[in-house]
Amino acid sequence: MLISKWKVWRSHGRQFIPDLQGVRLPETFRGRPQIEGPVPKLLAEELAQWCPVGALTAEPFTLDLGRCVFCNECAMRAPQHITFTSDYRLATTHRDALILREGNPDFIAFDEDQVRDCIHRLFGRALKLREVSAGGDNSTEMELNASMNVNFDFSRFGIDFVASPRHADGVVMTGPLTENMARALEICYNSVPAPRLLILAGSDAISGGLFAESPALDRRFLDRYRVDLYIPGNPVHPLTFIDGIMTLLGHYERTPWSEFQ
Ligand code: SF4
Repeated sequence: MLISKWKVWRSHGRQFIPDLQGVRLPETFRGRPQIEGPVPKLLAEELAQWCPVGALTAEPFTLDLGRCVFCNECAMRAPQHITFTSDYRLATTHRDALILREGNPDFIAFDEDQVRDCIHRLFGRALKLREVSAGGDNSTEMELNASMNVNFDFSRFGIDFVASPRHADGVVMTGPLTENMARALEICYNSVPAPRLLILAGSDAISGGLFAESPALDRRFLDRYRVDLYIPGNPVHPLTFIDGIMTLLGHYERTPWSEFQ
């Protein structure tokens, strides 16, 4: 009996990832894009027209990572100017840091000054989050679930999702925020004891994504409350989520990609 159990354990091997910061994703993963300039004006205009979510602007040439759905269309049309690196560390405190330009540094800036004082002090050792899918398509929601699975095991750092906002320290919003979910989200957010965090996960949550122009959205909630963390992705990779939260809590530092590899 014991021997057969030992054989099963042995065949499973070690399932959890011991060092989450040491993980390198394959080159096929689409993470932080890099723009090599100068992008000719005509090509920039053409790319901006092709982008299905209006994430590209022609003059100056910019790529908004908060809108991008990582379809790869621009990189296929202009591979000499746009490439996707496998850098999954995309989260930031400031919406403007997601607007990428030619000559940007090889990392997404994370402004520590934007992190409220209470965050490190109160949540540095334990953080409970309530997830609200505000019209989401279940893709980012599944990835957030995956961050707690046996591989990533995010709860080893004292970070968990909880069922009730009364037991939470903050809300993670996914989805483009539909009219039907606007009031429910606000009630949930206000049920979290202050000081509370607001985290937007995924392109849909940050900008509305593919549905940004839809009349079925009501995103006024985001004008009324301060966002603590923007986590781009479509969907968000578990490592992007983990890196974002750990950087917000002061446990990870954002370094250039060249040094991180
Ligand atoms: S990869 Fe992003 S920026 Fe490029 S075309 Fe697709 S959505 Fe637009």
